[in-house]
Amino acid sequence: MSSPTDPKHIVVIGAGITGLTSAYRLLKNASTSDYSGPAITVTVVEANPTVGGKIRTSPFGGISAVDEGPDAYLARVPHAVALARELQLGDDITNPTAGHAAVMHKKLHPIPEGLMLGVPTGVMSLARSDLMTWRGKIRAGLEPILPSSGDHKDSIGNLIRQRFGKQVQQLLVDPLVGSIYATDTNNFSLAMVPQLAALATGRSVLLTARKQMKNAPKSTAPIFETPRSGLATLTRTLNDAIVALNGQILTSTSVQSISRSGKGYIVDIAGETSSSLHADSVIIASPARTSAPLLKSLSEDAAILMSSAEHSSVVMATIKTVETDLPKLAGLSGYLVAKPDQDRVTAASFGSNKWAHWKPSDGSMILRVSLGRDGAPTHDLIHEWEDERIVRQVIDEVSRHTQTTITPDVFRVTRWPDAFPQYRPGHMKYVDAVESFLLHNAPGVFLAGASWRGIGIPACVAQAEKTAQCTTEFLSHLQD
Ligand SMILES: Cc1cc2nc3c(=O)[nH]c(=O)nc-3n(C[C@H](O)[C@H](O)[C@H](O)COP(=O)(O)OP(=O)(O)OC[C@H]3O[C@@H](n4cnc5c(N)ncnc54)[C@H](O)[C@@H]3O)c2cc1C
Repeated sequence: MSSPTDPKHIVVIGAGITGLTSAYRLLKNASTSDYSGPAITVTVVEANPTVGGKIRTSPFGGISAVDEGPDAYLARVPHAVALARELQLGDDITNPTAGHAAVMHKKLHPIPEGLMLGVPTGVMSLARSDLMTWRGKIRAGLEPILPSSGDHKDSIGNLIRQRFGKQVQQLLVDPLVGSIYATDTNNFSLAMVPQLAALATGRSVLLTARKQMKNAPKSTAPIFETPRSGLATLTRTLNDAIVALNGQILTSTSVQSISRSGKGYIVDIAGETSSSLHADSVIIASPARTSAPLLKSLSEDAAILMSSAEHSSVVMATIKTVETDLPKLAGLSGYLVAKPDQDRVTAASFGSNKWAHWKPSDGSMILRVSLGRDGAPTHDLIHEWEDERIVRQVIDEVSRHTQTTITPDVFRVTRWPDAFPQYRPGHMKYVDAVESFLLHNAPGVFLAGASWRGIGIPACVAQAEKTAQCTTEFLSHLQD
């Protein structure tokens, strides 16, 4: 039996960026002189043998660190940038080299200038590009004079088609936004992409976007950043900081169930052996659907809702190509494949053009190619294909798209099953419903991470910081 003066114990489920940041922030805050909350201990439980979740870096093709999942985070929002500086990673941080990206539609087209997440802020750059037909350009150009749109039902696709027509939706917004979420933007919540949702507040989306672009402070600061030693440096450094602050991290250990015990919880875990942890508060930083069964005895309603969460699976093929006509691709950072042109490849990133530290000394090039997305017409579980078949597919498609002959010297295939949570229209109502069930039936159990309020690394860090604060407030009340 714990006494009211014992330190409060928090169990964090999952050691991805969200779980690690939550644990670090709780311990770091509690170590400062102005902390007024209760004494705490923190245990992070991670099913995999290593920490990081979707963040994974390993040597490849003679380069010491090439990411297998995310390779950078947005630098124009504060959360991840501030965390990396706090963890003293500033000297290791780098930015992409200048380069342009393209959309693959029949051939590669440079992405027109003056877009906000694919939304045009003017018509001249669209008119100059041969990506769209004249009919599509004229339809897009009518947007500023159209009356207010009807209900877009929280679908990005609906809004953009209503305002600009099918071509802007299919050839600009869907490739640019859909590739971030491995999604079909027709079936994706507008509210969950706040930058786009903000453009739908006035009558004309184009005029609102133009005003926003004009009023935004002019910045030459890079849009993305990453540690040269790979993104896993961020999660490894968090791991070390947690241990230095006397937190505990149990890897190769999975949470099996959570049940009520007085005002707290019993968390059953299975690793080398099975055991139980007492917790005063639990942070669930593992994906919604796989975490649903853990909550069954606490809130059947929350568990049912969470088990309905949908995800898409992707495969990342990394290739070192020895091709000699690579100079044709100079300056191209990568391309996105528009849905009408998609077979299996959805995007390709020319890693050695994008990152100075990924340039092999022999003049070859490192490519990262993504396959698979939500709602793909050829939905045949690419992550179940053998490596050789995946690489053959990549060579065939990328050679065709770029009109070069891709000859792999070394390749690596990373499978990411169910990696991208799909925020369906109405997602925020779903989040509110799950949280309200937990508030009533399992106070002190919190949800954070990619399944809920944003999948990018900065959004996960922001959720972790907020959750750490809510946990401390909850435990302070428990003490009263
Ligand atoms: C291929 C790819 C490319 C991406 N590119 C970018 C990018 O360039 N920039 C960007 O910002 N974002 C990118 N993302 C998105 C971003 O990486 C993820 O959304 C984010 O890392 C998710 O972090 P998380 O902590 O919420 O979840 P996760 O990283 O999924 O961590 C959850 C952890 O919980 C563990 N777990 C699950 N169940 C249990 C259990 N029962 N017990 C114990 N542990 C459990 C899992 O093993 C996992 O380690 C990309 C994602 C992928 C897959």
